[in-house]
Amino acid sequence: MTVLNQQTTYDDNNIFAKMLDGDIPYHKVYEDDKTLAFMDIMPQAEGHVLVIPKQKAVDLADLEPEYAAAVLMTSKKVMQAQRQVFEREGVIQMQLNGSQAGQTVFHYHVHLIPSSIHELGRHAVTQADNNDLAAIAQKLAAVIDA
Ligand code: 5GP
Repeated sequence: MTVLNQQTTYDDNNIFAKMLDGDIPYHKVYEDDKTLAFMDIMPQAEGHVLVIPKQKAVDLADLEPEYAAAVLMTSKKVMQAQRQVFEREGVIQMQLNGSQAGQTVFHYHVHLIPSSIHELGRHAVTQADNNDLAAIAQKLAAVIDA
């Protein structure tokens, strides 16, 4: 089988690796020993959050079971917080594997987007206002902590 443009080796300089190293700022929603959740800088809807494992995984193929479980549990927390903060039931959970699928950052991550498949905005196109992202992150974090 031929797979085009597939990145298979982990690049330590990818943007999410730099966040985990503390080299790049982000709006944190939640963190524990195995995962980090933060606001997507180019949201496809208001409240778009990314959950990443603290493991060097390019995509789902690399994800270790303990990190897979941890990402899912953090995703659950974030999704429940999004439902509460945005007063809506509908939250999309999305995850892209490989550039062919549209993956642009090659550190495994789950998208949690308070939206509908019929209304979803374009992927990674429009940068959000920094203050808006900070305010939403704060609201979500407060609900998770409560
Ligand atoms: P992918 O295309 O890999 O599934 O998703 C990558 C996501 O990362 C996109 O939704 C994009 O908006 C987001 N993103 C790209 N660069 C940055 C960044 O520097 N900071 C944050 N918070 N998100 C980013």
